[in-house]
Amino acid sequence: MSKDKLGLNTICTHVGEVKDEQFKGAVSPMYLSSSYQFLDVDVKRYPRYFNTPNQEFLSKKIAALEHTEAAMIFGSGMAAISTMFLAFLKQGDHLVVQNTLYGGTVNFIKEEFPKYGIEYTFTNGYSIEDFEAAIQPNTTLIHIETPSNPLMTITDIKAVAQLGKSKSIFTSIDNTFASPVNQNPIDMGIDMVMHSATKYFGGHSDICAGAVASSAVHIERIWNVGKNLGGSLSDMTVWMLERSMKTLGLRVKAQTKNAMKLAKWLDKHPKIAKVYYPGLKSHPEYKLAKSQMKGFGAMLSFELIEGLESHAFQNALQLIKSSMSLAGVESTMLSPHLTSHSLLTQTERDAIGISDQLIRFSVGIESIKDLKHDIDKALSQI
Ligand SMILES: *Cc1c(COP(=O)(O)O)cnc(C)c1O
Repeated sequence: MSKDKLGLNTICTHVGEVKDEQFKGAVSPMYLSSSYQFLDVDVKRYPRYFNTPNQEFLSKKIAALEHTEAAMIFGSGMAAISTMFLAFLKQGDHLVVQNTLYGGTVNFIKEEFPKYGIEYTFTNGYSIEDFEAAIQPNTTLIHIETPSNPLMTITDIKAVAQLGKSKSIFTSIDNTFASPVNQNPIDMGIDMVMHSATKYFGGHSDICAGAVASSAVHIERIWNVGKNLGGSLSDMTVWMLERSMKTLGLRVKAQTKNAMKLAKWLDKHPKIAKVYYPGLKSHPEYKLAKSQMKGFGAMLSFELIEGLESHAFQNALQLIKSSMSLAGVESTMLSPHLTSHSLLTQTERDAIGISDQLIRFSVGIESIKDLKHDIDKALSQI
């Protein structure tokens, strides 16, 4: 069976299974050994080498989903991204990184890079000219995030990949928000794809994990740093992640469908001032999103009209939980100005378009009528 020809849900359910040769059980056995017999200099199994049976096999599922030769699973999204960065940036190198980026990634760059003598430039915007302008003679990596958090801006993946190739600069993307169900950046020329598997891969708000997928050569380079940093994941969690990923395609498609319907509905709602969703024709990069995404994703943001308090709105919701994280099967919301962006000043928030009225919405799989009812009711009570 060629895994390239398998459909999405077949990859999700079957690729990377550990066959139960002993008892012929239907699911992968969990191998918890942290000690394996020495067989050969090339096959030294050890949890921190990312090659216990469960880690090795689940990596194949992730590689198949992202259309790469290889992948690695980490203990968190931050373990994945930090290991990837440190594998491709050394003292004196320069990183070009998109200005709107997951907060943890921003902190890692600002707090850790100076200690290693790694230089970086945050772009002014997300157009290809912004990336071009940020490149220095010592740039070795360009890192992007699209759709971005929380305003769902769309970066031109192909253009960034071409820019990188034309200057022999590696390119990487944080594909967490879209997931491989909705976006395959490798097919557009990006070198490396990383994920917070805590989000859609896990999908049930009960796993913390990360992943990087790329060519075998790049993964070997990341592996060499990863075994030193030690950010591997326990096999128990790997097993849970495999179980979760069997429904990745089903979940994300259902969530994406719900998000599209809700975005359109919210856009017409008299108490909603603005909706940010790449699937709306009014989104500034709608055409670009349509050309590079298979679906528009299940994350959206919206602004309440002036006078309505975002905190009061969230408190009035009964079904939709307030949550710092995202991507579970349950719908959740957060107010960026009180949470993810609370450390910025009002002026800084204004500059990047994060108003006090803004709510980020991670759309789940619930029945759409119940979600609409919950939002409608909360809006009528505040
Ligand atoms: C959550 C998140 C991360 C970090 O992942 P952890 O699993 O929390 O370490 C990175 N990027 C994006 C876009 C995220 O949402």
